[in-house]
Amino acid sequence: MTNNKIRLSKSVVGKQEAEALARIIFENGYLGMGKEVQLFEQELQHFLRTDRQVVCVNSGTAALHLAVMATTKPREEILVQSLTFLSTFQAISAAGAIPIPCEVIPETITINLEDAKTRLTEWTKAIMPVHYASNPGNLEEIYRFAQKYNLRVIEDAAHAFGCYYNGKLIGSFGDVVCFSFDGIKNITSGEGGAVITTDQRVIQFVQDARLLGIHKDTEKRYQGQRSWEFDVTYQGYRYHMSNLFAAIGRVQLQRFEKEFKPGRINLAKKYRNALKDLPGVKFLESDLESIVPHIFPIKVLHEKRDSLHQWLLTKNIEVGIHYKPNHLLSYYGGKKGLLPVTERLYQELLSLPLYPDLKDKDVEYIIEAVKQFFESKHR
Ligand SMILES: *Cc1c(COP(=O)(O)O)cnc(C)c1O
Repeated sequence: MTNNKIRLSKSVVGKQEAEALARIIFENGYLGMGKEVQLFEQELQHFLRTDRQVVCVNSGTAALHLAVMATTKPREEILVQSLTFLSTFQAISAAGAIPIPCEVIPETITINLEDAKTRLTEWTKAIMPVHYASNPGNLEEIYRFAQKYNLRVIEDAAHAFGCYYNGKLIGSFGDVVCFSFDGIKNITSGEGGAVITTDQRVIQFVQDARLLGIHKDTEKRYQGQRSWEFDVTYQGYRYHMSNLFAAIGRVQLQRFEKEFKPGRINLAKKYRNALKDLPGVKFLESDLESIVPHIFPIKVLHEKRDSLHQWLLTKNIEVGIHYKPNHLLSYYGGKKGLLPVTERLYQELLSLPLYPDLKDKDVEYIIEAVKQFFESKHR
C-alpha cells in the first residue's frame, strides 16, 4: 500500500519557517543571539500566560544542565526515573550531580515516589520528574514530597510543551521547568530549549551561564551589542540560542494551537479507538483532554514486542523504543535487576509513529498492520 517508509517522528516545517529564516538572513544578517531570541522568549511567556521569565538556550539538554548547575552542587543527588531519554541523565552528570535511578508507576511511566523515598540520603538535593509521553503524572504529590524532604524540583518537560495539569499550563507553575524544542518535539526551533522559573537567582545564572558566564551579557545582546570589558567567576557555556533558531521557534509557536495540538491529539485518539480491544496491547493512562502527546508508546504484552517490532519494520513502518533505562548503561551503573518494573516495561514498550502531518491513510495502514499482527497465526 505504501512504498515509502512511514517515519516514527519528524519536524513539521515549511514555507513559513523558511521565510522567517530568510528574513533573518536578508533583512538583518545577525545570526547570533539578539532581538529575535528576546522576542521568542517574550512570546513563550505570553503563551504560557505567566509573568515568569523564560530563558532560551540551544537545546533541552543545555536547559536541564544549567538548571541542575543552578540548583545543586557537585556530588549532590537527584532522584529521577531511569526510564527517560539519556539527556536527562547526562544533564545531571554533566553538572557533577549524581542521578539516582528510580522506579516508575507502570500505568503512567512517571516517577514512583514510594520507591524514590527509599533512595533518599543526606546528599539528596532535588527530584527531576520527567513528563513521559507528555504525562505530568501526579505533580501535586511530587511537589508535596519535595516540600517534605526539602528538595528542589526540576521538571524535565521536554515532552510536555502545551500540556495542562489541573487546568494550568506546564511551565506556568512549579519550581524550575525545562522544555526542549528539538526537531521532533511539540514545537521545534531546529534545536533549542528553555528554562522557566520564578527563582531570580536561577534566571540570572542561566542567562549568564549560556554566554560563557559573562555577567549581564544577555541585556547587551538584546540590544545588538556585547560586553568587551568583563570578569568571569565560574565555568560557563556556549549555550545561547541563535536568532535563526528563535525565528523558527516563533513561527512554530504560532502554529501550535490550531495545527500541531489538534493534529497530535486526534492521531492519538485514532490509535486508541482502533486498538483498544486488542488483548495484546495496553495503553498508558493519559488524559488526551489536557495533554498534547509527543510520542505514542503502547505496551505489548506476552513477550510479543520484538516480533511486532520486526513485523512493522517489514511493513515499512518505523517504530521506536522509548527508552532504554539509564541504569542499564555502563556509565550509570550498568546493573540489571535493580529496577524490575522499569526493566519489564523496557521489554514491552513500543512507540507508533506520531507527528501532526502524518496522513490519515498512513495511520489506517499502521492500525491495520498492528491488527494483522495479532490476528496472524504466523506471528
Ligand atoms: C528531547 C528530550 C530531552 C533533551 O532535549 P534536546 O533538546 O534534544 O537536548 C530531554 N529529556 C527528554 C525526556 C527528551 O525527550
